[in-house]
Amino acid sequence: MKYFDKILIANRGEIAIRVMRACRELGIDTVAIYSEADKNSLFVHYADEAFPVGPAPPSKSYLNMERIIAVAKTAGAEAIHPGYGFLAENAAFSGLCEEEGITFIGPKKKTIAAMGSKIRSKQTMKDAGVPVLPGTDGGIDDISKAAKIADEIGYPVIVKASAGGGGIGMQIVHDPSEIEQAIEGAMRIAESAFGDRTVFIEKYLQKPRHVEVQVFCDEHNNGVHMFERECSIQRRHQKLIEEAPCPVMTPELRERMTDSALKVADAADYVNAGTVEFLYDNGNYYFMEMNTRLQVEHTITELITGIDLVRQQIVVAAGDPLEYAQEDITIRGHAIECRINAEDPLNNFAADPGKIVRYRSPGGPGIRLDSGIHAGYTIPPHYDSMIAKLCAWGMNRDLAIARMRRAIYEYVILGVKTTLPLHHAIMHNPEFISGNTSTHFLQEEHISKT
Ligand code: ADP
Repeated sequence: MKYFDKILIANRGEIAIRVMRACRELGIDTVAIYSEADKNSLFVHYADEAFPVGPAPPSKSYLNMERIIAVAKTAGAEAIHPGYGFLAENAAFSGLCEEEGITFIGPKKKTIAAMGSKIRSKQTMKDAGVPVLPGTDGGIDDISKAAKIADEIGYPVIVKASAGGGGIGMQIVHDPSEIEQAIEGAMRIAESAFGDRTVFIEKYLQKPRHVEVQVFCDEHNNGVHMFERECSIQRRHQKLIEEAPCPVMTPELRERMTDSALKVADAADYVNAGTVEFLYDNGNYYFMEMNTRLQVEHTITELITGIDLVRQQIVVAAGDPLEYAQEDITIRGHAIECRINAEDPLNNFAADPGKIVRYRSPGGPGIRLDSGIHAGYTIPPHYDSMIAKLCAWGMNRDLAIARMRRAIYEYVILGVKTTLPLHHAIMHNPEFISGNTSTHFLQEEHISKT
């Protein structure tokens, strides 16, 4: 079964290649789009066909919806896979594809829009009986009223952009005297980053873990979860290391969390791959948001379940039922992902694009590398700094860590600064090794300056 003859991949770098790999295994032809900055990139050569879509800035290329649709039509692609980032959670783009008779490999416009608002999705989940953190019920329009609510919740609180993503626009407030300024600041950042100044307040947890559940639903009323991922090791509220399963998970907690995640998917009338993010603290967990796309860290779920998530996305988008029922999905072993970013961990994670002068990739038992780079490749400055995802699998967590250490030792990237030395330090850190992490791990362990 082929599902589609041709798919356009509206993305770049490692994720474009990841999606094309699933297509190739299915015998589906692939169409790449690329900006001027990417004309010599690996993903362009990997595709069966490739079309330029504009200059380097994303607004002129990878976010240029009309141009991308026009390319899909010219090339005769029946479906578009958006990857993550760029147009992946753009409700208008999902709608536009539908209007143009092209299958968007992801959820429907209405679902993306409903989950794209953190305020709306939080309310929907609260109504569905999923635990959420206390906070303002909707967006803040009256600052003094919001300050009163913050007093009631108790400090510290966090001010967040409803349309937020990538950890942008969040302000932690420890003292009532700072609240007005924090709200105004968050509104300003939200307006410029997302074109929407709606912000809300919720209780700030001091040492939570970020634990998320992978869900998958098809059009035939099948909804499954693929267990959880632990994503607490973050810099600037952005993930740096993920692992599956969560090292402190118990069967009882897993049952409650996965049940809640499926409730979330059901309340959202969800179809395709999605991730339900929770904060976990002291035996309790709280819904944070639902991401309506394939996640960067889907790889570790693939390693512990043996399921190809991109293939399932294609199957479901074609209108077929999922290839797995819940009882077919089990956890085997442990997997860890290190995000290899071209940035300087000793200088506040400043991006360090440029030419890779020497490159040798790791391999061997239990190692999976997803990347779009090679020796002589010049990392353009216009995009996200993540250049590779290094994953290790082992029958248990200790073996996964041992393999990750070995792979980091083997991995040579010269010419740009990367997060590799930081990952080396974390893989040898006693707190990490014992599984004792929280979202404040990096600051507390003083491994890097964040
Ligand atoms: P974004 O959509 O911008 O990625 P999220 O809402 O997913 O933002 O949050 C990203 C990270 O910010 C979380 O993983 C966590 O580390 C931190 N965070 C968010 N909300 C809270 C909270 N209420 N208390 C403590 N940390 C939080």
